[in-house]
Amino acid sequence: MSAPMLSVVVPAYNEEASLNETHRRLTDVLSGMRIDYEIIYVDDGSQDRTAEIIESLLAGDDRVRLLGLSRNHGHQIAVTAGLDAADGDAVAIIDADLQDPPEVIPEMYERFREGCDVVYGKRAARDGDSAFKKATAFAFYRALNALTDVDIPADTGDFRLVSRRAADAVRGMREHDRYMRGMFAWIGFKQKAVEFHRDKRFAGETHYPLRTMLRLAANGVYSFSVKPLGAIAALGFALVCAGLLWLLTLMILALSGVGGLGLNAVAAMMAECTGLILAALGIVGGYAGRTYREVQNRPLYRLARREGFSR
Ligand code: UDP
Ligand code: MG
Repeated sequence: MSAPMLSVVVPAYNEEASLNETHRRLTDVLSGMRIDYEIIYVDDGSQDRTAEIIESLLAGDDRVRLLGLSRNHGHQIAVTAGLDAADGDAVAIIDADLQDPPEVIPEMYERFREGCDVVYGKRAARDGDSAFKKATAFAFYRALNALTDVDIPADTGDFRLVSRRAADAVRGMREHDRYMRGMFAWIGFKQKAVEFHRDKRFAGETHYPLRTMLRLAANGVYSFSVKPLGAIAALGFALVCAGLLWLLTLMILALSGVGGLGLNAVAAMMAECTGLILAALGIVGGYAGRTYREVQNRPLYRLARREGFSR
């Protein structure tokens, strides 16, 4: 019987400067574990030499696989493509820029051998991130947990190692807006954190500017909670009550001869309420747009290349 197999999924977008070093450190760690393994590099439509570098790694090592997406599909989809192709007894997901240290994988694997289904990396320190990113991440994870019904562990990214059944469970969820860390929390099973020190990027720049981060955050909320819809309804009722009180006050003032509060107050109220209505519409629209995308039912990604796989 062969040793259990570990698949390592590495999404890479324009990572030409990191990949060789990433592969060196990954192979060092994995070969030390004395198990059968494969490394699946997912080239997420890179414009630089990422694909070439993976090809060269592929030529020198029959445990390397290459998946090439037809264009840039984004980190979460790249991870999904890797997960779809991985058939190890356990699957690890790790960034290509060495911010997630490969040296943590053996400890994660140990937890898996003890019976954990989802072993997620918890960031004990974040060297490479700005104070702003740390503060927003802190606030976001807390807000998300208040809004959603699943317990999405704070301060975790996508660095994790999961069992076959956990990987299969998430593979079966084909939603388009993929907030993977939420999905892995949603499936349940036995979950455990392993703390690690998040390093600086080995080279290059982040592909997660504020705009992309906000979109991922919105996906987290939209995909795991309909509470914002309830909040809109609650706000609507509160405004109706406030409006009634307002009207009553004006009537009393008018009857007692003091007079009204003037048009300026009314104009301010109108602006306030119109803004609230538009914001509410935006939230409803967020759900509607996502529903539309699901109904279109397009595949999550297209593969342009698939190399190194024996199947
Ligand atoms: N990535 C990807 N597709 C993208 C953007 C990023 O596959 O469209 C990969 C990237 O190469 C890296 C990982 O996802 O391996 C995390 O991205 P990045 O380091 O830019 O994000 P950060 O660590 O700054 O949050
Ligand atoms: Mg990074």
